[in-house]
Amino acid sequence: MKQQITQETELVQIGVGRDESTGAISVPIYPSATYRHPSVGESTGYDYTRSGNPTRQALEEGLARLEGGSRALAFASGMAALTTFFLHFSSGDHIIVSEDLYGGTYRVLDQIFADFGLSASYVDTTSSVNVANAIASNTRALLIETPGNPLLGVADLDQLGQLCRSRGLLFAVDNTFMTPVLQRPFEFGADVVLHSGTKYLGGHSDLCSGVLITRKQELGERFYFLQNSTGAVLPPQDSWLLIRSLKTLPLRMQRHCQSAGRIAEWLESHPAVAKVFYPGLPSHPGHELTRRQCRGFGGMLSFRVTSPEHARQVLQRLQLISFAESLGGVESLMTLPAVQTHADIPKQDRERLGICERLLRLSVGIETVDDIIADLDQALC
Ligand SMILES: *Cc1c(COP(=O)(O)O)cnc(C)c1O
Repeated sequence: MKQQITQETELVQIGVGRDESTGAISVPIYPSATYRHPSVGESTGYDYTRSGNPTRQALEEGLARLEGGSRALAFASGMAALTTFFLHFSSGDHIIVSEDLYGGTYRVLDQIFADFGLSASYVDTTSSVNVANAIASNTRALLIETPGNPLLGVADLDQLGQLCRSRGLLFAVDNTFMTPVLQRPFEFGADVVLHSGTKYLGGHSDLCSGVLITRKQELGERFYFLQNSTGAVLPPQDSWLLIRSLKTLPLRMQRHCQSAGRIAEWLESHPAVAKVFYPGLPSHPGHELTRRQCRGFGGMLSFRVTSPEHARQVLQRLQLISFAESLGGVESLMTLPAVQTHADIPKQDRERLGICERLLRLSVGIETVDDIIADLDQALC
């Protein structure tokens, strides 16, 4: 009988002992582009590395189990995974997406897929009524980020899952900010989960990758066809590195959550801080919902200082925290979303959403929390 194991144990065991010829604990990296056929019409299961690679497959099987889905595909970046998701649709189709969205996802929809006839509505998905009102006869899917980026608005996975089921929409969740350690969208009826593996899954700011996971095998086959046809697969070396990162994901997430909680409280009581956005704060409108649907509040927070000049000054004064884009690494990173990550969103939309030039976003790393607070303290004064 196979022993029941936890998600943490499952992650540590990814790839362990898979190579029966040597018993290697760490899964080998197979750089081979092509594979010998035993005879005509026979295959070892591997023919060509775009179509399948043993190292990538070990990763993909681990990712599918981690998210609780049936099929996972590893991509060269999060945008490659999202692009492949959008390739599923046809000209004339319409999709609904969160307005509090990763800037690159907005850009690919607005500047590339729009030209191919795929239209998108940007909706405040923290209200399912708004989503229901945006559904048209040609709407095929809903893609959300929760919590949103950079304002951390929380969408109700259960309500949106029910809405999508009743209206026949494909329900997709970009789970980059929470990871399956904290949030499992398939349990709420999501059909597709996407990740930028560059962030928490990779976790060390040294790897670019993306993941697409489906709840059902059949839909997984469709996305495998799209991935194999268009080719943005994750290379074997990077697949190995991502496997290594995943083994410590639960430990890292625990620390990210703990430290972000403390820092959010500290910022909230700081006189130079006008407002803090963190789902773990009781003042956050999505606090109770996050408590219900997640196993933690995550490691991302945003805050507004009193003037755009002050925001720029804070970034200049940082010593420990790096002023850099991206998130989810062991190192703390801070960015100015209006100028960096969300610059492609038109200014008037940004301002309506509250992504102003006083808003700073902090990805809380796993350094000693008092060291992070000390750096914020000297930078804010
Ligand atoms: C970074 C990010 C992406 C894009 O991923 P890349 O790996 O940079 O291509 C997509 N969604 C979210 C939420 C992200 O943070």
